[in-house]
Amino acid sequence: MSKRFDEFGFRPEIMQAIQDAGYETCTPIQEKAMGPILAGHDLTGLAETGSGKTAAFLLPILDRMPLGEEDPRALVVAPTRELAQQVAAEAVKLGKHRKVRIAAVYGGTGLGSQKNELLAGIDLVVGTPGRLIDFIRQTYLRISRLRYLVLDEADRMLDMGFIKDMEFIMSKAPMSRQTLLFSATLPEPVLELASQFMFEPVQVEVERPSLTARNIEQSVFLARDLRSKVRLLKDLLRSEKPAQALVFVATREKTAELADDLRRAGEKVASISSLLSQTNRERVLGGFRDGTYKVLVATDVAGRGLDIEGVSHVFNFDVPGSPDDYVHRVGRTGRAGRKGRAITLVSPRDVPLLADIEAHLGVRLERPDGEGAAPASQREDRPGPRRRRGASVKGRKGARGSSGRSGSGEKGGGSGQGRRRRRGGRGRGRGGGGEGGSRDR
Ligand code: AMP
Repeated sequence: MSKRFDEFGFRPEIMQAIQDAGYETCTPIQEKAMGPILAGHDLTGLAETGSGKTAAFLLPILDRMPLGEEDPRALVVAPTRELAQQVAAEAVKLGKHRKVRIAAVYGGTGLGSQKNELLAGIDLVVGTPGRLIDFIRQTYLRISRLRYLVLDEADRMLDMGFIKDMEFIMSKAPMSRQTLLFSATLPEPVLELASQFMFEPVQVEVERPSLTARNIEQSVFLARDLRSKVRLLKDLLRSEKPAQALVFVATREKTAELADDLRRAGEKVASISSLLSQTNRERVLGGFRDGTYKVLVATDVAGRGLDIEGVSHVFNFDVPGSPDDYVHRVGRTGRAGRKGRAITLVSPRDVPLLADIEAHLGVRLERPDGEGAAPASQREDRPGPRRRRGASVKGRKGARGSSGRSGSGEKGGGSGQGRRRRRGGRGRGRGGGGEGGSRDR
């Protein structure tokens, strides 16, 4: 039986907001993390988007933080504008009855209105690293009196090359603060950051439901080359009739290119990457959320953290650069108890990447047209009805032992062994994106 929120002694204004939000019982990360946070501990939380982690750190902060002071007392640092906006929206929702003053600051939009908000007095700030540092340097944001500092999706910030920025922000915050770090994986540099800037953090982690357990059917289609991949994708979009589809590509330049191709084929499609202005990103996301666009072409970074319930299909047009990215991409479907379908298009040169993903997940992704023993280059790549049959994932005792994988894999697990594996990292250097060409920041 999950814990109820009234067991934590939240003040009535916070309880009312929880009730308004329709949250009845705690999610596992909330159950495990809120007690230690309320008790004042630093904390590292191993949890991904969708776990309820945002409320897990916001509720104790919104409940306990002092309000109405000149300088903010709580700061949440998030890797992307979308995540910063989502966290700020959740904070507004949960902090409304306590009248917490909340601001979101992120790049890609003018400094003016964000600056004015900060100057007007703010209790809790949510922001992306670059913009936060701009405001700190210009002294519009003073963080010397912070009571709470949260690093959200720390592993992603690391991937995006924000390590120095995180260090800068932590070095400017007072020693007396409480630091909370949330991350979907705990690679070595994140643990280093934690040991350097946090005081005896309590570690909590939640079992990550595997993609298979989340009702996501995963399969692989083989394609000879780029042109056949485009043709294959168009065919799959027609035959699968997704309610909404996210299509992932490796570079930001490719997002618009592929979207143009699909548009010419009659799809209602848009693309999103950091090449878009903030206003356009918001317009595109709004259009995808309200169904104006059925297909959204995105990079890993732009697609990260998107929590859109209606996404029925994820297509990996380019094979993700790491098993972690695979899990993150595929996890965009099968949300809120719905079924999902994930299809990865593999050309001959992607085969080693696919093998790496399968080894880490400890599963073999089904090739709907058989075992896929023949080289991809010899295969016909048009999906016929026969090929879509039985696309599913079979469990397999993976190359990494019975639990199947390193930290980049699907399921969590509280054992020391599991944690050591996670510490093994993501197999990429600091700041090394898996997006091939120009990375999306
Ligand atoms: P997050 O992992 O923080 O992105 O949260 C995922 C979704 O779960 C968000 O839409 C939250 O509003 C929702 N949520 C958070 N906590 C709860 C809860 N205890 N019960 C139901 N929904 C929740």
